[in-house]
Amino acid sequence: MLSDKLINLHPYVPGEQPKDRVYIKLNANESPYAPHKSVVKAVKKYVTKNPQKLALYPDPDSNELRSEIAAMLNRTGGVLCNSFDDLPDEKDKIPFEVTPDMIFTGNGSDEVLSFVFYTFFNPGQPVVTANFTYSFYPVYAGFYGLTLEQVPLKDDWTLDTQKMISFACSNNSPTIFANPNAPTGLALTRNQIRELLLKAPKDRVFVVDEAYCDFGGESSIPLLQEFKNLVIVRTFSKSFSFAGMRLGYVVSNPEVVKHLFTVKNSFNHFPCDVLSQQAGIASCKASNYYARCARLVCQERSSIIDFLKSRGWFVLDSTTNFVFAKKDGVQGHAVYEEVKKCGILIRHFATPGIDNFVRISIGTKKQMNLLKKALEKF
Ligand SMILES: *Cc1c(COP(=O)(O)O)cnc(C)c1O
Repeated sequence: MLSDKLINLHPYVPGEQPKDRVYIKLNANESPYAPHKSVVKAVKKYVTKNPQKLALYPDPDSNELRSEIAAMLNRTGGVLCNSFDDLPDEKDKIPFEVTPDMIFTGNGSDEVLSFVFYTFFNPGQPVVTANFTYSFYPVYAGFYGLTLEQVPLKDDWTLDTQKMISFACSNNSPTIFANPNAPTGLALTRNQIRELLLKAPKDRVFVVDEAYCDFGGESSIPLLQEFKNLVIVRTFSKSFSFAGMRLGYVVSNPEVVKHLFTVKNSFNHFPCDVLSQQAGIASCKASNYYARCARLVCQERSSIIDFLKSRGWFVLDSTTNFVFAKKDGVQGHAVYEEVKKCGILIRHFATPGIDNFVRISIGTKKQMNLLKKALEKF
């Protein structure tokens, strides 16, 4: 009854979403802040003003949304926490105009990543990535029958870029990793990415997943002019309080976007429904609000890092909305269990190599104060 392909599937296990009790959720890197009220209003208005529109197919290519995403990136530089009143920090300014034909949208960046895998990666040709980075990449590799070369992180938990690039060059391989990386939270600078792109095979894509860039990373968008093989994947799920609505996108050159459209139109014409398109458009327009939310996250992040360090924890520097931490003599799983007893969920990965760590998503000040209280036991 089952297809042969099924044996290669090893499904991703997301952070738990329990129904038995109301927990404070610091386990899935979701935003603790509600969407801006203009987003709620846009959805309500769309549904009530002309309900018949729900009976009609959405714009298959999300054209208005893609224009708004491009405009938002031009205004903010793609790093919300550094963008004040819709003006990017000098170092984040994009030296050209991002145009809508450089944007591809999908049902969350997970789906967008799946299309990227299908479009640019070939079975029999290993794809370079890291061990550890976003754990969905190995899942898709299984799904598409691809081989991944998971280059181990260095002792300081940073990407071993030298090993990654030398493998890519000797095997003419494409590359994919998250920057800032997950679950470490550490980031490469744009200059470091540029150095890698200069060496990497020009006829293979180089995919940078910027899911967390809005919390203090350096976006690689300014490099798009120079490198036609650069594919940047981003999401509304974290910095735009949108995980439940599902919206992710690619920023790349129009040629890459065109090929992604071919794949999308061979799989599902309508990955973004009418409501997510409407809400996404309103979200882009409210970027100023989300920039303030991102700054609150950064504040709470410094506070929890100080708290943990002052109590003897080892904490990796983070440019994301989570911290990755461990303490000598304390089991990661025990921390998870203890905190759960206090009504708070954090993430523990049973994966060898990182099983001593816990990953804590940054919540509101109130949530973080409760977490600190729960962590006092250690
Ligand atoms: C959360 C996350 C995603 C997936 O985001 P969705 O848009 O919700 O599918 C992709 N990449 C990384 C690195 C993430 O952490």
